[in-house]
Amino acid sequence: VRHLIVVFGDQLNLDASAFDDFDQERDLVWMAEADKESTHVWTHKQRIVIFLAAMRHFRDALKERGDRVHYTQLDDSKQTNRLSERLDIDLRALRPDRVIACQPGEWRVQEGLKKVCEENGVPLEIREDRHFYTTPGDFEKHAEGRKSLRMEFFYREQRKRFDVLMDENGKPEGDAWNFDKDNRGNFGKSGPESPGKGPSHRADAVTQEVIDLVNKRFADHPGSLDRFTWAVTREEAKRDLNKFIKERLPTFGLYQDAMWQDEPWLYHSLISSSLNLKLLNPREVVDAAAEAYYSGHAPIAAVEGFIRQILGWREYVRGIYWMHMPEYIERNTMGAEECLPDFYWTGETKLECLRQSIGQTLEYGYAHHIQRLMVTGLYALLLGIHPKRVHEWYLAVYVDAVEWVELPNTLGMSQYGDGGLMASKPYVATGKYIHKMSNYCQACPMNPAKRTGEDACPFTTLYWDYLLRHEKTLRKNQRMSLQVRNIDRIKTAERKAIQARAEELRKDPACMKENK
Ligand code: FAD
Repeated sequence: VRHLIVVFGDQLNLDASAFDDFDQERDLVWMAEADKESTHVWTHKQRIVIFLAAMRHFRDALKERGDRVHYTQLDDSKQTNRLSERLDIDLRALRPDRVIACQPGEWRVQEGLKKVCEENGVPLEIREDRHFYTTPGDFEKHAEGRKSLRMEFFYREQRKRFDVLMDENGKPEGDAWNFDKDNRGNFGKSGPESPGKGPSHRADAVTQEVIDLVNKRFADHPGSLDRFTWAVTREEAKRDLNKFIKERLPTFGLYQDAMWQDEPWLYHSLISSSLNLKLLNPREVVDAAAEAYYSGHAPIAAVEGFIRQILGWREYVRGIYWMHMPEYIERNTMGAEECLPDFYWTGETKLECLRQSIGQTLEYGYAHHIQRLMVTGLYALLLGIHPKRVHEWYLAVYVDAVEWVELPNTLGMSQYGDGGLMASKPYVATGKYIHKMSNYCQACPMNPAKRTGEDACPFTTLYWDYLLRHEKTLRKNQRMSLQVRNIDRIKTAERKAIQARAEELRKDPACMKENK
């Protein structure tokens, strides 16, 4: 074997740089399924299936174009617990001149790869992953000399650099960089009109085999496989993208932050797993959205709001990840030490917003951004859960979870564990935010306007408790000053009542013990 091309489960693009000089006669593609990848965090069954099914379909696509593939399935007798163990054994048997791989999506995997190659004395070439618009090096250049980093400035640079939604005078289309104010709608009393029905791909024989395997082998893992309909091939992913652009993009922006009972999909694109597995390329997604604007199919606010997520946030978080790993994962600026409540794994709570957001997560492996940030994430932040425990949950339960994107979003954006690298202030709010953006509170026994008492919304109690606990730190943050100043108006007796109630909530965060 001349070159052994190592392909990990989130690198399923046939045009990856690792294949640039591939010679079908002399080179071999190496792929492996390993138990540990599903157990190092207690992974949701749908997440295991999406990775394994997409990998097996990709193996078949490689073979179809004539590539030789060395593939180890979980149910092979030669399967090993860890990827690196399998690679170690195979390197000794295959003795390639060189190992080639695209940059992995996880620091841990990259280190494992380097170590095995070094131990076997095989040269390793890690190539830039050109799936992304930007490289970790581009991001470091952007960060150089800046006191603080803000996504907005990085995003504007990329808009100009890649000429996305720019007019002929070099100005942003619609004469503004940001349409956030148009993108904060809620559904009022009537609810969403014809919301999305979710992905609807039928499992073929390859996927069904994986479903059966996961049901047997990972029976005690969280989540359900009653309905597995995620895209696992490029063709399916392209169909999802087209459907989204045609049917939901025009409404995406306005209702981007809104939530509604028993409507998990709303107007979201549902393509994050396909993007992260590399079944879709961000350029084709951004180009399709921009085209919808230029053809008059979708308004600028929706299109810009959507493109910002991909050309902005997605590239930005990857830059943060590679710039700050491996120390980033250990950060805990606010000193949060609590354990993750058990109900995050069951959805058993009286709090309707959490019941809905966790329930659909367990059923489908999906929740949209505001549910992740302002429901499950916010509750963990306010309770004071250790950011690493929160990170492990998010990495385990979503079909789109890959560490480079999950970790900065969880530890940084949602838990403020990085002390302001990702977000300029903690995303904290009372239950009134959820009340405004959804109809969840109507089905909940708690009152978002109350901060003390047994029927006070725990988000509201814990919000005030959070401000009281972290008053000293938060007062130093200019962007928090307005929020923190409000605690000056709370009398000592009420402060004590808030803190006492917060203590009770920490003992019963699901509010199951109360007699309601
Ligand atoms: P849409 O709402 O339709 O957005 C379009 C696309 O933009 C997404 O498919 C995604 O690729 C990209 N995008 C949107 N927001 C972000 C963001 N903040 N960071 C990076 N890309 C973004 N996204 C993941 O892909 N994997 C994760 O593991 C992940 N974990 C998250 C954890 C937390 C705590 C939070 C707050 C957010 C997380 N996100 C993650 C970002 C975001 O919530 C998901 O990308 C989005 O909900 C996926 O659904 P969608 O495809 O319908 O997205």
